[in-house]
Amino acid sequence: MPDPPHPPSAPREVHPGIFVGGLTACRPGTARHPVIHACKSPCHQRALGYTRSLPADHPHYLARADANDLWLNFIDPPLPLFQPNSFAQFLAFAAPRIDDGAVLTLHCNQGESRSPSLALLLLARHLRVLQDSSFAAARAAYERLDPAYRPGSGIAQFLSEQWSSLQCTCTRCQSS
Ligand SMILES: [Zn+2]
Ligand SMILES: [Zn+2]
Repeated sequence: MPDPPHPPSAPREVHPGIFVGGLTACRPGTARHPVIHACKSPCHQRALGYTRSLPADHPHYLARADANDLWLNFIDPPLPLFQPNSFAQFLAFAAPRIDDGAVLTLHCNQGESRSPSLALLLLARHLRVLQDSSFAAARAAYERLDPAYRPGSGIAQFLSEQWSSLQCTCTRCQSS
């Protein structure tokens, strides 16, 4: 059963320069403070100007990036409908920006499942500050930084099953 609705949580800094939150954290990104919008509704829909769904062959079906914002077509269903390419696009957007000293905000609707899952992935696979042998190990380490983390069953199952394939392909990670 989904959790009952409640007010979106305030943004929290889970690691220096990485803020996670719900819709209250949504705003346009800037070069110093890019924003990852990890929700279909309202952000991906608004950025691409649609109300129901995009056709699956739309070039920005999974994600749209510009200089300072990344919009992900993320919903949080109990069954995993996530695609590895969304996470690859997230890492490709976030890794060079955090390396350049930008402060990142990652937000979804509640700030409990989708956006902190992305922060977890960035911390484990690019910044390499979390135990990385499995999603369960990374999750246990991440929960010490972010006790508000409540991943939905779908994204938790997806990350467990796909963990080894979700690698950062930035220049620094590929050369280490
Ligand atoms: Zn947003
Ligand atoms: Zn990397």
